[in-house]
Amino acid sequence: MPLPLSQPDLTDAEITAVLEVLRSPRLALGPKVTAFEQALADYSGCRFGVAVNSGTSALHLIVRALGIGEGDEVLTTPFSFVASANCILFERAVPVFVDIDPITLNLDVDRVEAAITPRTRAILAVDIFGRPADWARLQEISRRHGLLLIEDSCEAIGARYRQPDGAWARCGSLADAGCFAFYPNKQMTTGEGGMIVTDNEETARLCRSMSNQGRDEGAGWLQHARLGYNYRLSDLNCALGIAQLQRLPEMLAARAQVATWYNEALADLPQIETPAEREGEEISWFVYVVRLTEGHTRADRDAVLAHLRAREIGCSDYFTPIHLQPYLREQLSHAPGDFPVTESVSARTVALPFYNRLTREQVAEVSAALQEGLATRSPR
Ligand SMILES: *Cc1c(COP(=O)(O)O)cnc(C)c1O
Repeated sequence: MPLPLSQPDLTDAEITAVLEVLRSPRLALGPKVTAFEQALADYSGCRFGVAVNSGTSALHLIVRALGIGEGDEVLTTPFSFVASANCILFERAVPVFVDIDPITLNLDVDRVEAAITPRTRAILAVDIFGRPADWARLQEISRRHGLLLIEDSCEAIGARYRQPDGAWARCGSLADAGCFAFYPNKQMTTGEGGMIVTDNEETARLCRSMSNQGRDEGAGWLQHARLGYNYRLSDLNCALGIAQLQRLPEMLAARAQVATWYNEALADLPQIETPAEREGEEISWFVYVVRLTEGHTRADRDAVLAHLRAREIGCSDYFTPIHLQPYLREQLSHAPGDFPVTESVSARTVALPFYNRLTREQVAEVSAALQEGLATRSPR
């Protein structure tokens, strides 16, 4: 049986919740939007939530609401989904990439300070694959240099980070503003959707206004206080989101179980490194990504992907470095070799099928296929 790379987990509760909205008079700008915003803000430990139609829209509005604009430099990671850099380009600001840590795959904080210039306005860090970035140090650096801090937690809903005072905080709440995404491959879905979370009332107010054509709260339908967009999320999507959020603890536990099965099944394969949780963090498992050990080439990895695909096992090469995407090579004059850790990791990753209902037997089947695929390629 073919195994997809990812699969949403929907039950009768979600179907009932959406049907209820369909039978109501409010399909948009209604009570489900407000309820979803409040529920997700509460869950993340933030004061405000603003629902929008994608994670990308959420990032864009955060950048605008924080006043980041033309020529401002924003330090960020080249190892991410492309939206985390695009949101900077949307505002004619400049993404300044900083290489990653080879174990956590998050921004290498030791390199962040050296990249700061007089034009630096912000740091945009991503909790990649659901693992919290090094927030204590990012907070300390941004405070010391007077920089804004943005958290792209689109892959990390529910992940937790232990702060220096010992208190645990959820991803999304660790910067001036954070955001989530709800495309069907994420831990929870609204079909399409996103959410901004923040403790700052003004940031929330600006984001809400810009998501709704620049209208201020309570203003007339044709009164537009500022340039805005239609980034609204409908009540149908939000009802689905509320039902998914109620099941999120159960869904995250199922994902953690699948990750544990994979880690056990793959523990004795010397050619790969498996992801492990570290002291002071709780990963929210977005994907399960292994890495061929150093010495393996991109061709080795691609052969493994081809081997898995031939057996109808969904897999992917998360992520192609952002700085090597054609338009960024051109626009920012990047070339191979600019961020060696990112490029080396990116050439060796294999994302395996990963979703809540994957069984232990299917994990064993994938692991066996991976082992066979690896046996055809030995490191130099
Ligand atoms: C999924 C994702 C986003 C936003 O995705 P949308 O498809 O716009 O909802 C942003 N950043 C990262 C790191 C992501 O994984």
